[in-house]
Amino acid sequence: MTTDVIDAKELKNSDPVFGQMSFDDHEQIVFCNDKDTGLKAIIGIHNTVLGPALGGTRMWQYNSEWEALNDVLRLSRGMTFKSAITGLNLGGGKAVIIGDAKTQKTSELMGRFGEFVHSLSGRYITAEDVGMATEDMDIVREVTPFVTGISESKGGAGNPSPITAYGVFMGMKAAAKFKYGSDILEDKNIFVQGIGNVGEALVEHLANEGAKVTISDISQERLQEVKSKYDVTIYGGSDIYSEEMDIYAPCALGATINDNTINKLRADIIAGAANNQLANELRHGTLLQERGILYAPDFLINAGGIINVYAELENYGKAEIMRKTENIYNTTLEIFENARQNNLSTHNAALNIAKDRIATRKRENAK
Ligand code: NAD
Repeated sequence: MTTDVIDAKELKNSDPVFGQMSFDDHEQIVFCNDKDTGLKAIIGIHNTVLGPALGGTRMWQYNSEWEALNDVLRLSRGMTFKSAITGLNLGGGKAVIIGDAKTQKTSELMGRFGEFVHSLSGRYITAEDVGMATEDMDIVREVTPFVTGISESKGGAGNPSPITAYGVFMGMKAAAKFKYGSDILEDKNIFVQGIGNVGEALVEHLANEGAKVTISDISQERLQEVKSKYDVTIYGGSDIYSEEMDIYAPCALGATINDNTINKLRADIIAGAANNQLANELRHGTLLQERGILYAPDFLINAGGIINVYAELENYGKAEIMRKTENIYNTTLEIFENARQNNLSTHNAALNIAKDRIATRKRENAK
């Protein structure tokens, strides 16, 4: 898996940007290039009706520029609905930097990226995503105030990943409550795919609750590290999607629920941190519904991170961050109930509520 992969043929549409199938009335797309530092980045601003577009920066070795563009379009759109459903006054944006975070990320490159963010005068506010760390945001902060996720020592809310993991844990518990009648995860057979910043923190919650956790990652080092800390099993098979499990928690990259995997999945519940888990929201959301697999919408349950960074803008503290994140449990249950009553996929039920909030604000703004 690379990133939110869609068949390469599907990526190219007749027109290079506005004609892309991931293009969904995005307000602004900014291509950033700096020869000296090797920076090649794309900033996507999807929608700013509710507020400035906030979303993290992902650094990834994309196979092509099409793939990077597709990723930023999908991710920035997802942020719009994430903030809307969480009740935050933020729009949706995201940035991708093309390159290997391990070998090509330098402080000069991050500084130059920060200057591009600054040039948007606050329409886009960045934060960390895959391939980024709090220290990288500290570098960006030196050239622009339009950044969140900076170190606590520099006045930020710190690493958002543990909060994201806590929100995913809350969403997963709500799914268990809805599916099994109890939110206790003890003895549940849970597969966590991707044990990076969020995945590991989720594993900790699950292990503490006595769940039977299996972990998978492309990094052997990470697997050994996490295994040494918690009572978990390292996945030894070759096709995680065919395994018998109660809960599948995708915590690596997106689009793992796709045409190739959906018919193999035998989980009761899907609840994880990865953004854009459904390769095709409509088709795969509906297929999951038909197959009786309860899907906790990613943009709903992985909102802990944005709740955390929003605190930096609104000046609320840890207690309020935790309260808002814990509330993901209630919102998730409400969405499941709404989906059941209206015979919708859970993804669509969540999306409809988010879209309604944006439409209402747009009408109010127009008055
Ligand atoms: P991370 O880079 O720390 O971890 C990702 C992990 O996935 C790495 O350990 C990597 O080796 C592993 N991985 C990559 N491809 C894999 C594959 N095919 N199979 C198994 N493992 C694989 O990233 P993170 O911050 O933990 O974020 C994880 C996901 O959650 C991402 O999709 C991210 O967009 C999303 N997310 C993160 C946050 C946050 O606060 N960090 C918030 C919302 C959403």
